[in-house]
Amino acid sequence: MIYQSTRGAEFTARDTEAVLRGIAPDGGLYIDPALGSRPFDWRGCLALPPLGMAEKILAHLLPGFKDMDALVHRAYEGKFSAPELTPLVPVGEDYVLELFHGPTSAFKDVALSMLPRLMTAARAQEGVEDKIIILTATSGDTGKAALEGFRDVDGTGIIVFYPADGVSPVQKAQMVTQEGDNVKVCALRGNFDDCQRGVKECFARINREALLAGTGLRLSSANSINIGRLAPQVVYYFIAYGALLRRGRIKAGAWVDFVVPTGNFGDILAGYFAKLMGLPVGRLVCASNANRILTDFLCTGVYDRRRDFIKTSSPSMDILVSSNLERLLFLASGGDGAFVKTCMENLARDGVYSVGDAVLGSIRAQFSAYTCGEAGTAQTIARVWRDYGYLCDPHTAVAFSAAEEYKAERAGDAPVVVLSTASPFKFPGAVLKALGGDRSGDAFAQMDRLSRLAGVEIPGNLSGLKAKVPLHRDSIEKDGLTDYVLRVLSEREGF
Ligand SMILES: *Cc1c(COP(=O)(O)O)cnc(C)c1O
Repeated sequence: MIYQSTRGAEFTARDTEAVLRGIAPDGGLYIDPALGSRPFDWRGCLALPPLGMAEKILAHLLPGFKDMDALVHRAYEGKFSAPELTPLVPVGEDYVLELFHGPTSAFKDVALSMLPRLMTAARAQEGVEDKIIILTATSGDTGKAALEGFRDVDGTGIIVFYPADGVSPVQKAQMVTQEGDNVKVCALRGNFDDCQRGVKECFARINREALLAGTGLRLSSANSINIGRLAPQVVYYFIAYGALLRRGRIKAGAWVDFVVPTGNFGDILAGYFAKLMGLPVGRLVCASNANRILTDFLCTGVYDRRRDFIKTSSPSMDILVSSNLERLLFLASGGDGAFVKTCMENLARDGVYSVGDAVLGSIRAQFSAYTCGEAGTAQTIARVWRDYGYLCDPHTAVAFSAAEEYKAERAGDAPVVVLSTASPFKFPGAVLKALGGDRSGDAFAQMDRLSRLAGVEIPGNLSGLKAKVPLHRDSIEKDGLTDYVLRVLSEREGF
């Protein structure tokens, strides 16, 4: 029982159970309170090839799973276009960790290639016979990566909801053309927070009223609240550190700073987990877009969602309710479940909570935070291209901008690794606009132009979309999500 709810120690779970459930019965997230005190051979891990690192790290975070080696190989082998999985590329005096070489060209592939393997293994180990239906709200990238990860995986089905006007044309094309016998994609007329709220309400109502009892189906989540989503993300911090060692840029034990474009706080929290496991992670720099709620929180200790939701050119970070922050509150308060519960109740009731000086101080000892607005994002894309010949997407640009501000203020000169979370070809319109290029035509014409301009090839999964026909046309109102799920499941359309 190494996992417990962030809202109190009454709800414990085996790791296999935690992966199957996604969320604890009291609404909290599963966490291992002893992560920082269980010994881990991080130095030995750094000498391994990427899949070997993944096996060691995942076996440490999820020790109850049998045959982690086989699960890791099935998840990644042949799926990523780079042998290093996540290559580290020098750009100027810094480094970019490219997380986007998986099947959908977004960093979420790293976790969502692994999660279905963990879920089916957990289902077998827990003796569960029900088919597991994944409900996912997406701000763009999770949806496609989850669909690709779960498609045709035995014993599972997946339904994805995306905000009708909140995703890029490429992201939409990726989702509505998804093939597979166990997949469903639906547009919701609202923003990402509406999708996320709808999914949470659906879970709550179906569980409260036992609406799936006796159907042989049960719900789970692929959002980054699932510990099986977070654990695989710890791996690439080790891959980056190992690459710096091999280049001779650092010696084992030296600090390395990481700058992370952040929305739901999953990616950056995985960096903190790596640090708790012993990896010499220096500062973790949170980069927010114009929806600067996380940066405001990390600077003031006040989390206040009573603000307008801004649509930006980095839509995967357009988030006002950052779920994984709950795990940081738990860790920073020394594992105080009652404190976390109060914060979350205040957020639900008043839209705001405040953590006080002690918790804020402990967070600020590890994390820095900066914001980059829309104009700054475009300027950064252009500047990084002009100065270094490196083409980055808008999410990565937000992080580049934060890296510059951070370096201007920090003491010390540890290497800086900027996490790059999406291929620029997923957002060709925004990138061309920033470069002052011609934006006429559809997303595919834009991709072609961007490819010629930069001399970089379009990833095959994106250029191939053009020839695919839309297979999913469902769309619903904001408050219709639970009814839609119940209808789809009762008709067993595809499940
Ligand atoms: C999801 C996503 C992010 C934000 O990651 P979190 O783990 O939610 O903080 C950043 N960039 C891209 C491209 C994404 O898809």
